[in-house]
Amino acid sequence: MSRTAYVNGRYVPHHSAAVHIEDRGYQFSDGIYEVCEVLGGKLVDEARHMARLSRSLSELQIRMPMKLSALRRVLHETVRRNRVADGLVYVQITRGVAPRDHAFPSPDTPPSVVVTAKRVPRIKGEHTAEEGVRVITLPDNRWDRVDIKTVSLLPNILAKQKAKEAGAYEAWFVDGDGCVTEGSSTNAWIVSQDGTLVTRPAEHGILRGITRMVVMDIAANEGMKVEERHFSVDEAKMAREAFITAASTLVMPVVEIDGKVIGNGQPGSITLSLREKFHENAEIAVA
Ligand code: PMP
Repeated sequence: MSRTAYVNGRYVPHHSAAVHIEDRGYQFSDGIYEVCEVLGGKLVDEARHMARLSRSLSELQIRMPMKLSALRRVLHETVRRNRVADGLVYVQITRGVAPRDHAFPSPDTPPSVVVTAKRVPRIKGEHTAEEGVRVITLPDNRWDRVDIKTVSLLPNILAKQKAKEAGAYEAWFVDGDGCVTEGSSTNAWIVSQDGTLVTRPAEHGILRGITRMVVMDIAANEGMKVEERHFSVDEAKMAREAFITAASTLVMPVVEIDGKVIGNGQPGSITLSLREKFHENAEIAVA
């Protein structure tokens, strides 16, 4: 089946979908994005993703290209046109097309909007979760506003590539104090020996993951203890369990950090129960 993309007001064949060479996203990474899980044709945690999208835009002083309700309709329509039952929907908004100049273009420049949707078989993630994944650690060399979900992802892609080359699934960024910030495209968690969930506070040093928030909700519902605090790579290596969260991976067990086996090398039971309860706790909007 041929895929369809939404580009600046039109639904076009995916293979020929294009933006102008002077789009500020292409020239400067001057834009933001969101990735939302699609489950049974419905969007998971759409309201929270849209709230974060609005915040990212306002932090960069990019105006909303259309009403939020209209943008939501485009997301749903792109999912529908691509007949995505399970997968991901991607939306990117940039500061628009203007002659190349670092400073912002005229405020009447329309932002560019691209939406795509793709199928991802659920079984793929389930197989990965049965085994658990390996992570490596790398110095965090990103700017200090990674709380904004910008398309400016160069350090993240270099880190992910290093992970791939090392036979790992993810790279965890480490700050100057030896503490884990987050993964290149995921939030990082450990479970301490007493069963407490530990993750870094969502200040400017990490992205406030939507999946992370849902895990917080599950923990609250289940009476589990959560500590939002910094944790070191050494502490992570000695943890009972470790896992990562993102809309694309959900709750994914980590079984090895820099070659050090976590627990007994199998996905942890707390991690797996969080994964199992995830969709009961996420908000699943009708398409
Ligand atoms: N941190 C980074 C750097 C990410 O790119 C992502 C995925 N977008 C996350 C965390 C997880 O966020 P979410 O749970 O909203 O997908």
